[in-house]
Amino acid sequence: MLKLQTKTLLALASVMLVLIIVITLASLASFRDFSIRAATEQTRTSAEMIRVALTESMLNGTIHQRDSLLSRITQIDGLDEARVIRGPLVQKQFGDGLNIESLTDPIDLQVLQSGKSVYTLVGGYLSAEFRATVPYIASSQGDVNCLSCHAASEGSVLGAVTLIASIQHMRKAALLTIIILVGATTLFSIISLLFLRKLLQPLVITANEIEQAVRQAKAGDFSIRVQQRSNDEIGAIARHFNSLSEGITTKLSEIRHNVAHLIQSQPSTNGDLLADTANTVSGLVKVSQFKQAIEEDESSEEVFQRISEVIQTEFNFNQFSIYEVDQTKRKIAVICVDGIAQAPIQWCNDDITEKCTTCRVVRTGHSIDGTENTLICRSFSNEARQEGKVYFCLPVIQSGGVGSIIQLVLQADDLPRAQHARPLIESYLREAAPVLQAKSLMASLRESTLNDAMTGLRNRRFLEEYSETLVSQCKRRGTSMTLIMMDLDYFKKVNDTYGHDVGDSILIDLANIFKANVRDSDLIIRYGGEEFLIILPDTNANEGHLVAEKIRKAVEVFQFKAGGVLINKTISAGLADYPGNGQAFWQVLKYADVSLYAAKDAGRNQVVCFTPELWLSEEKY
Ligand code: GH3
Ligand code: MG
Ligand code: MG
Repeated sequence: MLKLQTKTLLALASVMLVLIIVITLASLASFRDFSIRAATEQTRTSAEMIRVALTESMLNGTIHQRDSLLSRITQIDGLDEARVIRGPLVQKQFGDGLNIESLTDPIDLQVLQSGKSVYTLVGGYLSAEFRATVPYIASSQGDVNCLSCHAASEGSVLGAVTLIASIQHMRKAALLTIIILVGATTLFSIISLLFLRKLLQPLVITANEIEQAVRQAKAGDFSIRVQQRSNDEIGAIARHFNSLSEGITTKLSEIRHNVAHLIQSQPSTNGDLLADTANTVSGLVKVSQFKQAIEEDESSEEVFQRISEVIQTEFNFNQFSIYEVDQTKRKIAVICVDGIAQAPIQWCNDDITEKCTTCRVVRTGHSIDGTENTLICRSFSNEARQEGKVYFCLPVIQSGGVGSIIQLVLQADDLPRAQHARPLIESYLREAAPVLQAKSLMASLRESTLNDAMTGLRNRRFLEEYSETLVSQCKRRGTSMTLIMMDLDYFKKVNDTYGHDVGDSILIDLANIFKANVRDSDLIIRYGGEEFLIILPDTNANEGHLVAEKIRKAVEVFQFKAGGVLINKTISAGLADYPGNGQAFWQVLKYADVSLYAAKDAGRNQVVCFTPELWLSEEKY
């Protein structure tokens, strides 16, 4: 690409060159024309003079000396040759004359025949010699009457004179003039070019500097300024460009600082600032959208699921773990591994799940960067370490403690990307922290309303919510379930004799006896004060009766601590079967209760299975 200055100077130089060529050609043409005209005049005059001289010689009788006359004439500067030829009439009248006078060439013949002068350059266009052949026409007019001596008619051709004149001196003068003219024009052109170059200089330099600055700006660097070299429009362009750059730099650094503040990181000082800032802003917009989404999510699981998706889709990390810390149990649960929920632990040793403080993040409460020193955490999987993987663990702080942990597992070439992504990932986690806290608080609150605080068993409210699920499970599997309603015998006495606290501890012991004698899938519900309901899914009445008996016996032999002594207590149990005894769950529950009272009536410390008669006798009351 040609530069502006080169183009302008080339254009001007071309114009000047054309001008010089035109001037040269025009001068050459006009000088040629001028020299031909001048030579024509000169030879015409000379021819006339020769004619006059010859006529005088004829009249004076010295015509025989014409030869020396002509040779003297040729000594005139600029006249190289002069010869006279006789026409046929003169030859006829006076003979051939001198040798030279009868030697004719085609031009002479042409002039003798036509009676018209011929003027020509000897030997071509660029010749330095000019030839004129002028006829002598017989005339009776004028001073001398030709016809008085010559036997010729008026207007006939008597002879001709041929003159060859050098136009070399005119050529030289013309050439000198042309050289001066071309030289002056060339000098003028050079001065003009230099002057124009000087004029263009600030424009060219400013344009180059602006081009450079714009190039840098495209790469995100707005720091380059353009020097103002003049006070004209070019200077104004430089000034405006500088103030524009200044404005962009100031605003951009303001935005960068604010954005850096938002993601709680230092503003970057290298790279493409504009692109970096734009990326961070769009990242923050996504963080804000993420926040809105997780606030409307129902559970912590959904929030964790979203964090997992962000790590994979937004940041493109595919090997990672999400752990949740149970601060009360001091354990860690694996939420997901590499985006797969409930997957077995993969990137850490098993022991962190059993004892949460084995995890360095939980212990220290801050992020752990294994990218610089891979041995900083000893719980990172040895296999992964041997494969050259490193880790980067970020805590999600909830209520001042580590609520969950995001662990990125990285290969060496992921590291710069991970360092760059870290502030934004931390922004996501900062937004997630209060939401996760609120969700887990809600979950534990809800859990507490469904549990009995003293025994840790489920309560009646739980049964109200869960009964439908139990029924539909039964229906789906085509099985039956047994409901056992239990009540401590003469419990009031315990309270009265040993106090309420002893009563409470007996209830806790009782709950443990129940737990020890049923399967994990069975449900134990504290139904009332010292009334308990045990639901055995997938169990018929016979099997249920065996379990109830087992529990009754276990209670019977258990020695409860009461003050300083050990006491024995018994329970009574009523048993009913769903759907064997009834199609409605709450009806069957009622039957179990009726059976319990039958057991009490029958003397306590026994299990009574429901029979329809029991219901009929109940109805009687
Ligand atoms: P029985 O059932 O054999 O007819 O006699 P009982 O003495 O156990 O009578 P009942 O079941 O009607 O008495 C319930 C008693 O249980 C009343 C109350 O003092 C006691 N109780 C209920 N809830 C609690 C509790 O949470 N803690 C303690 N310590 N006692 C409770
Ligand atoms: Mg009772
Ligand atoms: Mg009782």
